[in-house]
Amino acid sequence: MTAAATDAPMIRMSAVDKHFGALHVLKGITLDVPRGQVVVVLGPSGSGKSTLCRTINRLEPIDSGTISVDGTPLPAEGKALAGLRADVGMVFQQFNLFAHKTILDNVTLGPIKVRGLAKAKANEEAQALLKRVGIADQADKYPAQLSGGQQQRAAIARALAMKPKVMLFDEPTSALDPEMVNEVLDVMTSLAAEGMTMLVVTHEMGFARRAAHRVLFMSDGEVVEDSTPGDFFSAPKSDRAKDFLGKIL
Ligand code: ADP
Ligand code: MG
Repeated sequence: MTAAATDAPMIRMSAVDKHFGALHVLKGITLDVPRGQVVVVLGPSGSGKSTLCRTINRLEPIDSGTISVDGTPLPAEGKALAGLRADVGMVFQQFNLFAHKTILDNVTLGPIKVRGLAKAKANEEAQALLKRVGIADQADKYPAQLSGGQQQRAAIARALAMKPKVMLFDEPTSALDPEMVNEVLDVMTSLAAEGMTMLVVTHEMGFARRAAHRVLFMSDGEVVEDSTPGDFFSAPKSDRAKDFLGKIL
């Protein structure tokens, strides 16, 4: 969308507040994510993790504070917002593929519509992405013909087709059968190794230990801990994090 604003953090959230009615779901979130950093967001259900992700690509408006992506403040709406959304890829728990389009068409739709690519060029890029996520042979199938793990990898390819600067993942493996979790985590791990800036909400502690540069622990709309995976898992500081880890590990 815009030229890289070089020194700016890839994501900057400053005093971000968000309510749903009387419920205060994000309480003054201030956070910088540098370019290339992989951040895993942990926390109990209802702590605001999904809402945090959704504010970053403006699926949820915020009440106050500011959010910038690569130095560009989030626009409220309009054409600039579509450009911003292209900069911020998002992968959800439910794969959200278009059921009546082939996998290839799912991946090319955004590039043709938003990036203005010619169909042949979009197809070429999409094929390369499908190969990268290991499902090149599924291009002409429909989502329902794929396994959950393959669908989620298609969803990742679709997000990457927009050439995002940041990728947000909201529990990308939570809806998968256990035997398919690793094929998706492997794609995410290689994306991380290639230097993508990523914010990942997950309960996969192995991924957090292996791929994260940083762990954020959220509770009640606040970032309660912000540390390295090593420090977080071996010596959580807050009682809330200790309690959380005690339940899941
Ligand atoms: P998490 O992803 O950590 O489980 P969420 O961000 O989904 O948490 O939700 C935080 C809180 O906001 C929860 O109490 C949830 O019920 C509430 N919430 C989320 N989305 C909405 C919505 N669209 N309308 C009203 N309340 C919501
Ligand atoms: Mg959630």
